Amino acid sequence: MSSARRRALITGSAGQDGSYLAEQLLADGYAVHGLVRPRPDGSVVRPEFVPDAVVLHGGDVTDHAATAALVAEVNPDEVYNLAAISSVARSWTEPDLVRAVNGDAAIALLDACVAVGARFVQASSAEIFGAPTQNPQTEDTPLAPTNPYGEAKAAAHEAVQAARATGKFAVNAVLYNHESPRRPNTFVTRKITQTVAAIARGEADELVLGTTSVRRDWGWAPDHVDAMVRAARHDVAQDYVVATGVGHSVHDLAAAAFAHVGISDWERFLRIDQAYVRPNDAPVLLGDASRARLDLGWVPTRTFEEMVAEMVDADLG
Ligand code: NAP
Repeated sequence: MSSARRRALITGSAGQDGSYLAEQLLADGYAVHGLVRPRPDGSVVRPEFVPDAVVLHGGDVTDHAATAALVAEVNPDEVYNLAAISSVARSWTEPDLVRAVNGDAAIALLDACVAVGARFVQASSAEIFGAPTQNPQTEDTPLAPTNPYGEAKAAAHEAVQAARATGKFAVNAVLYNHESPRRPNTFVTRKITQTVAAIARGEADELVLGTTSVRRDWGWAPDHVDAMVRAARHDVAQDYVVATGVGHSVHDLAAAAFAHVGISDWERFLRIDQAYVRPNDAPVLLGDASRARLDLGWVPTRTFEEMVAEMVDADLG
C-alpha cells in the first residue's frame, strides 16, 4: 500500500550529496521529498541530477517556521540535513550567514524532527576537529574548530548529541571530504580534474593552486551518502566518523589526475598562487571509521585513484 511507503526529507537536495542520496532512497522504495532554494522569482526548478520522482519543496532553512511546517506536512520517517554553505573559504567572508545556515537552522530543523518523531541525520564535518595534532580522529576526538564553518557545524553537532541524550534518534555523520563529478569547481578537487582534462585536450596550459601540501581523507560521495543511510536505519542512534582512513595531499591529487591522462612531467603546468591559500587550514585531517565499519557494515567502494579517474573521465566528456 502506498500509505505504508517510508518517507524521507532531504534538505540541500540540490547539492552533490543530495542527488546521490535521493537516488539511493528512491532505489530503496522511499517516497523522497527534497527542499531546494527557490529562484529569486519564487519558482522551484528541478536541479540537475535530482530525479523526477523527488517531490520538491521550495524553501530556505533559515526560515525556521516554514521548515518546521514542511516537516509536519511531510511527516517523514527520516530527515537528512545536508543544507549548508559547504565552502570553508566562504565561511571566512560570510560568517553570519554560515552560522545561520550551518548552525542555527540545523538546530531548528532538529527540533522540528523531534516534534514529529523523525529520525534525524546531520551532515557534520571533520572541520569540527579544527587542526588536530592527533591523526586519525574518532568520534571521541574533542571539538576544536578553527573556522566559522567548523564552529557552526560543531554547534549543530552538539545539539544532535544533546537530543540523543534525551532519547531522540539523532545522528551526526562526521563526514570527511568526499568528491564526485557532481562536485562544483569551486572546490580544489574538481578544479584540478577539470583543469587537467582541459590541459589534456590542449585547451589550457596552467593549473593554479594554493597550498599543495594539505592532506585530506578524500572519499567517494555516494559511499559517504550510503553511510548516512545506514546510520539512519541502524537500531541504535550513534555518531559516526565517515572516512576512508587514507590521506592524500593536494599534490597527490593533481599527480593522480595527470597520471590518468598520461602526463608524467605535470609540474611544468603547476603555478602556486598565495591568493588561494586559506587561513588556518588544518595541515592534515584523517578519519578512523572503525565504528561505521563495525556497526553499519560500511566500507568505501572506491580507491582515491579510482575516484580521481572517474572525475577526470567525466570532465574529459
Ligand atoms: P553542497 O553541494 O554545497 O550542497 C549543499 C546544499 O545546501 C546546496 O544545494 C545549497 O543550495 C543548500 N543550501 C545552502 N543554503 C541553504 C539554505 N539557506 N536553505 C536551503 N538550502 C540551502 O554540499 P555537499 O557536498 O552535497 O555536502 C552535503 C553536506 O555535507 C553539507 O552540509 C556539507 O557541509 C557536509 N559536508 C560535506 C563534505 C564534502 O566533502 N562534500 C564534507 C563534510 C561535510 P544551493 O544549491 O541553492 O546553494
